[in-house]
Amino acid sequence: MSQHSIAIIGVGKIAVDQHLPVIAKNPAFRLAALVSQRGVEQAGVPTFRTPAELYAAMPDLDAVAICTPPSVRHQVALEALNAGMNVLLEKPPAPTVSELADLVRQAAARRCVLFATWHSQYNAGVEEAKKRLAGRKIASLAITWKEDVRRWHPGQEWIWQPGGFGVFDPGINALSILTEIAPEPFFVTAATLTYPANRDTPIAARLTFASDAALPGAALTAEFDWRQTGDQTWTIEIVVEDGTRLTLIDGGSKLAVNGNLTVAEPMVEYEGIYARFAGLLDRGESAVDAAPFHLVADAMVVGKRETTDAFEW
Ligand code: NAP
Repeated sequence: MSQHSIAIIGVGKIAVDQHLPVIAKNPAFRLAALVSQRGVEQAGVPTFRTPAELYAAMPDLDAVAICTPPSVRHQVALEALNAGMNVLLEKPPAPTVSELADLVRQAAARRCVLFATWHSQYNAGVEEAKKRLAGRKIASLAITWKEDVRRWHPGQEWIWQPGGFGVFDPGINALSILTEIAPEPFFVTAATLTYPANRDTPIAARLTFASDAALPGAALTAEFDWRQTGDQTWTIEIVVEDGTRLTLIDGGSKLAVNGNLTVAEPMVEYEGIYARFAGLLDRGESAVDAAPFHLVADAMVVGKRETTDAFEW
């Protein structure tokens, strides 16, 4: 196993909360630099104001982790690929489906590794649910992803701007679990998207699905809401054809089977992401799973719009 030098582009909440500490404890990586518009610093490594300055100063760098808001991801990733970098993309991987497809093509043409991460997939409960669903039909599915936007995205204006994904920013995490565990693809059949009167992205969404993974007529739903104060809910409840009830709790870190807690592991999502990235780099392989992104894009295409109260921080 070789050690890979890596720089982080965009040193905001997720870079500070997860990428920096997880890179620091993974011997497969060496943090080489930061790129920060605001000039955020970290002891022992240089900070560059732009990716172009980074690539000019460190042409031998192995990889970059792009932790910016999604709206600039294509442009930043393409610049990295053009500089010969291997690229890790935070979720959602790009603002549009076509741009993600383009990045896949461009990475392959340059023989660079492209890794689109879905952090929620790296939970022990998700793996166990996938095993328990293999080869079986789903009798019902209810995703409930309700959280307080003021608590988790304080002051992040980009989430309300076009290309900012709104409530699908967390909702896509639930969909990434669904696409990971479902034995067959899911399709969005209808969606209701609730927009604050003064914002350009939804604050809530209700989706219904169809899937060959489910019994005929099965109720398959997702409910995303950013207005939940108090207890936060990140739950996926699935009833299997034989009546077994699988409940993924706390974003997939816990799994209850018929109400009995069967898996309860600490969250090690980003540890999983960087362990996988190290393997991909060693083998020179890309990994881009676009399925969760397709479901969000499809929901936006078929979604019916409704308007609710204006949102202010
Ligand atoms: P954030 O706190 O707003 O940080 C994003 C950072 O990117 C900014 O602080 C800024 O850092 C840089 N940036 C902002 N606008 C930019 C632009 N136009 N061009 C280039 N860089 C820009 O957001 P975040 O919560 O870390 O989220 C970033 C990504 O991670 C999102 O896609 C989100 O879905 C994903 N994510 C977030 C969380 C979470 O808990 N917040 C969890 C998992 C995944 P500099 O000033 O340092 O350049």
